[in-house]
Amino acid sequence: THFGFRDVPARDKQKLVGQVFSSVAGNYDLMNDLMSLGIHRAWKRYYVATSQVRRGDRVLDLAGGTGDIAALLRPRVGATGSIVLGDINGDMLRVGRDRMLDRGYVDGFEYVQCNAEALPFPDASFDLVTMAFGLRNVTDKDAALREIRRVLKVGGQARVLEFSEVKPEWFRPVYDFHSFQVLPRLGRLFAGDEDSYRYLAESIRKHPPQDELKAMMEAAGLERCSYRNLSAGICAVHTGYRF
Ligand code: SAM
Repeated sequence: THFGFRDVPARDKQKLVGQVFSSVAGNYDLMNDLMSLGIHRAWKRYYVATSQVRRGDRVLDLAGGTGDIAALLRPRVGATGSIVLGDINGDMLRVGRDRMLDRGYVDGFEYVQCNAEALPFPDASFDLVTMAFGLRNVTDKDAALREIRRVLKVGGQARVLEFSEVKPEWFRPVYDFHSFQVLPRLGRLFAGDEDSYRYLAESIRKHPPQDELKAMMEAAGLERCSYRNLSAGICAVHTGYRF
């Protein structure tokens, strides 16, 4: 069955995204390595290393999934800090929690099943909110960005890592071939699931490019918004602040 994302009404998108992530949860890490040739690890390391996180910070890793970002944040917030791993999908969250426990990370972690569009946290709760490869999947992205701003403390930083628009013209056909020919085949071979990986390629094309996302962050009330391209724009890190 094809998840058929192209024409679904907004209210059905969330259900379909749920099916995709429940389906990929078990193979998630292997597939990330295969699809990106391991480069996603470097993107994530850069993303965390250049955030303004400090010892003692309280951080929300939204759409935290299997916990890659949370694990990288852990040594930076130290024993006095805390990390909330928030994700809408119980299956992804369970894999994330198991992963943290395997690493011996117990104290300072919370796991909250939540929708980014309506966060169950009071205003001004966090020093940093990270959302890596998550915003793309959210139906009402403006609502999610407003919520991220709301739960930030004054001076807090919002950071979004997401696929974006590839910049060099010559690279686009290569990237399209990889997205629409290679990814679904990798999905079929290694995860027995072609449709989820077809969804991935489609969702990347539909996601707002760099400047549009920056404008959306500004419209949500975030300030000093900026972005930086990674790997020629395959990904971008967007940053904004609450003042
Ligand atoms: N941040 C992790 C990483 O970088 O590996 C996981 C990214 S994974 C591609 C996207 C995650 O977004 C999934 O775990 C999915 O369940 C979650 N997600 C999708 N829609 C969401 C929403 N509306 N609110 C919260 N999380 C959502």
